Amino acid sequence: MGKPSEKPTEEPQAFPETVHPQRVTSTEWSVMLAFAVTMLTCMLSGTLKSMADEVTAIWLANAVLLGQMMVAAPRQRYWVLAGGIAGNMLANLFGESLMVALSYTLADTLEVLIAFSFAPRIGSVAELLRPKALLKFMAGGVVLAPLLSGLLATTLLRSQLSGHLLPSLANWFVAHALSLVLFTPAAVVFWNGEAADLLRADRRLKTVGLLLLVCAVTTGVFVQNRFPLLYWALLPIVLLAFHADAAGVMVGLLLCLAITVSFTMRGIGPLWIFPYPNMEARIFSLQLFLLAALGIALPISATQVSRGRLVGLLREGERRYRILAENATDIVMSVTLEGRLTYVSPRAQTVMRRNPDELIGAYFPDLVIADDRDALATAIENLAIGASEISQVSRFRRSDGQILWLETYLRPVIDPFSGQPEALTATTRDITARKTAEQRLADERLELQGLAYRDGLTSLFNRRHFDLELENQWQHLAEDEGSGFTAVVMIDIDAYKSYNDQYGHQRGDDCLRTIAQTIALSAKRPTDIVARYGGEEFALILKDTDLQGARVVAERIRRAVEELQVPHLASHIGIVTVSLGVAAQQPRQGGDPAGLVAAADRALYEAKRRGRNQTFVAEEGDAGPGSRV
Ligand code: GH3
Ligand code: MG
Ligand code: MG
Repeated sequence: MGKPSEKPTEEPQAFPETVHPQRVTSTEWSVMLAFAVTMLTCMLSGTLKSMADEVTAIWLANAVLLGQMMVAAPRQRYWVLAGGIAGNMLANLFGESLMVALSYTLADTLEVLIAFSFAPRIGSVAELLRPKALLKFMAGGVVLAPLLSGLLATTLLRSQLSGHLLPSLANWFVAHALSLVLFTPAAVVFWNGEAADLLRADRRLKTVGLLLLVCAVTTGVFVQNRFPLLYWALLPIVLLAFHADAAGVMVGLLLCLAITVSFTMRGIGPLWIFPYPNMEARIFSLQLFLLAALGIALPISATQVSRGRLVGLLREGERRYRILAENATDIVMSVTLEGRLTYVSPRAQTVMRRNPDELIGAYFPDLVIADDRDALATAIENLAIGASEISQVSRFRRSDGQILWLETYLRPVIDPFSGQPEALTATTRDITARKTAEQRLADERLELQGLAYRDGLTSLFNRRHFDLELENQWQHLAEDEGSGFTAVVMIDIDAYKSYNDQYGHQRGDDCLRTIAQTIALSAKRPTDIVARYGGEEFALILKDTDLQGARVVAERIRRAVEELQVPHLASHIGIVTVSLGVAAQQPRQGGDPAGLVAAADRALYEAKRRGRNQTFVAEEGDAGPGSRV
């Protein structure tokens, strides 16, 4: 049943009506109960019958027995039926002959059996109110069963009925059908304990209040004969159907029935205002009223049951997604197509140190640092006009100053009717750790690359890089018609072996580093490549530099080393000096880089030969293959 007053914080039940616990009763006890209750209800029905000039107004017994069978444990059902039949028979024997009693009992048994075959086996009365179950029960249990039982009864008792077969059949049918439709659900709530549950503390006040209202209004309507207020008695039933659950509605209908029947049978109530031709007609009118009450209450109650089920499902679904969103390691957000946040999961507190509630309404791109704002805004715009999924990495500055790398997957939420995006969902993950690791890897890669191209002692480029660079430049320039000369300068420290011998290798290395630095500082163009070519030899590539220009650079280096005035007692000059060989060539003139290096090498050899601490420039055109001696 729908429980409008139920607080949303309560544990939701997807199918509140199916969780009703099955009462466990022993078989003996069930049989005895069936026997006693059927006997009593048969006698009560008989009394009503005699009060109403022998017209059967209501036949309680079959519905009560059927209700008990419907909620009984499977193995007890037919024991219950047997107990009921015995009670029915005994009650009939009180006023009738054996044959008549047997006929009635046989007809009643047939009715209960047929109705039972159409009735659902249920735990709670709300299950009977499901459209399919209710329809089947109405057609088979309420129409077919009393019709067939009525036919059997009138056939068996035709000698007694002296020609009034059809009216008797009609009377039987109406009384029994009405009884089954009215009392079966009511009996179910009594047999399965739902009626007792109505007095549970949490809903007692409301249900009891509504039931009292039903009693009060029904009594008010039926206690007087002056005003035709009959249908006013329906109003509290409607109220009850809306606000109580199915069990409450059944109890209310039962109370209404008890009051209306007992007053009417005593000659009081609105049904006595009009002069009916006979009691039969009056009772038929009463039956119509009761049917109307049921006809109003049942659909409302059934609607409330399915509404309750739907609310339960919705609540369950909502709860499931809330659990997902709240426990996800990602921040889950709902975003409007304009980029405003409408939901932010609690994870934002842990990751971004921002209260999710305070983020509601914020423009999502405003959260990230200025540099990344436009990209995120563009992603949102693209999704709004139909993009299916965009992943965006943005940086976020936390209140403690730390920059977080956030990866956000944005997807549109498609409106099922228009097929257009109506909002966006964003799942944001903190990838700072991954980014840091990536950065570290990149740094290490760069460092390794540096190691591969650099010389460890001087940090200048190594020979491998020098060769590659010269080869690259050469090829590149060879294709260019207007390219100028490329010069190579080879440098060798003079008498360095004896420097090592004199001062030791440690100082030798220090001196080497100093000279490397001096050479690097003397090559001023950004395109100049300075490399350690081998032991104490250095080499320069000077792009777009002819012999003249290269000589200037070489001399600048030679002087710079000289000016260092590093003492070298083993050298005849007294200080550390270098000799330099210079060669230059236009790459497009043919030749190859190795030839250029060899020419520079030969020039260096010449500089050495001529006394060291000097630059020798190769003759123009001397860049062919050659070797240093
Ligand atoms: P010159 O060039 O003037 O003809 O005489 P040199 O003594 O320098 O002769 P050479 O160029 O053949 O000598 C190379 C010497 O340079 C060998 C070694 O003692 C020294 N050397 C080469 N590489 C290193 C190095 O990495 N560290 C140190 N300390 N010395 C080196
Ligand atoms: Mg050397
Ligand atoms: Mg040398």
